[in-house]
Amino acid sequence: MKYRHAFHAGNFADVHKHVTLLACLTALLRKNKGFLYAETHAGAGLYDLRSHSARQADEAGDGIERLLDFAHRHPPTPDSLLSHYLQLVAVARQETGIRQSYPGSPWLALSQLRSQDRAALHEIDAADCAALERTSHGPAAVRVTQADGYRALRALLPPIERRALVLIDPPYEEADEDRRKICTTLGDSLQRFATGVYVIWYPLKLAGERDRWLRQLAAVCDAASPNKRDWLSSELWVHALDSRTSLAGSGMFVVNPPFQLAAELLSANTALAAALAGPLGGFAVLDKL
Ligand code: SAM
Repeated sequence: MKYRHAFHAGNFADVHKHVTLLACLTALLRKNKGFLYAETHAGAGLYDLRSHSARQADEAGDGIERLLDFAHRHPPTPDSLLSHYLQLVAVARQETGIRQSYPGSPWLALSQLRSQDRAALHEIDAADCAALERTSHGPAAVRVTQADGYRALRALLPPIERRALVLIDPPYEEADEDRRKICTTLGDSLQRFATGVYVIWYPLKLAGERDRWLRQLAAVCDAASPNKRDWLSSELWVHALDSRTSLAGSGMFVVNPPFQLAAELLSANTALAAALAGPLGGFAVLDKL
């Protein structure tokens, strides 16, 4: 496996993914009862955008740095999702003392979890897993494991708390293989624990491929449980689909979306598109095909 997230940290897809994740976390935190937060593909936790890899790829320039610049000119409303996300990026930068650092999904989640919550983070790469361990923080109990996250998830479900948020964020280096494993893992997880909130990141390139993938995910939701599962997808594309760019957009498929998530994401995606999308970009929040 060649994929290293350090090359992509803070790009537009990370921004969209992390804003969506934060909305889901915030919704679960509204109840006092603790929950399990699990990641199958956690990465290193925190990234230094001055590193050789990050500078070589230079993706954060069109992601978090562009959003910060936009927010400087058009500040988001103080209690909005976007404002909350930007505050957390600022806290990460302040705490590390590195102005160009970028918090990954585990860092953002751990900054929000409480002592009654629990985190289980999986990462297959030894160096990223060690870095993840070093950046773990906050009051929740955290277990970091170097393992195949698809397999490890089985042992966690159903959670003792009877509440869970699971992020599945694979590299799609071998895209068909990752899609196959996602469908198997999601189907299995829904059978073990039907009411969990499952969030799956996916890349957007070709329109036909994207439509097929959403149909496939929706079919897994329908097949896995006797009661139809609700789902929604939040998408931000910075280039037109079918254009010849390596990544046109970012998608998040949310199974059992929390109450009012769609409205919140519509508003955040409108702002993200204004800040990050090119003239042929756009956004969508869908809850049916
Ligand atoms: N979720 C992270 C974030 O948003 O900050 C980024 C994760 S990155 C897209 C994907 C990660 O999955 C990489 O760090 C890669 O090493 C790891 N990985 C690849 N295959 C894996 C597997 N089968 N199980 C666990 N981790 C895996």
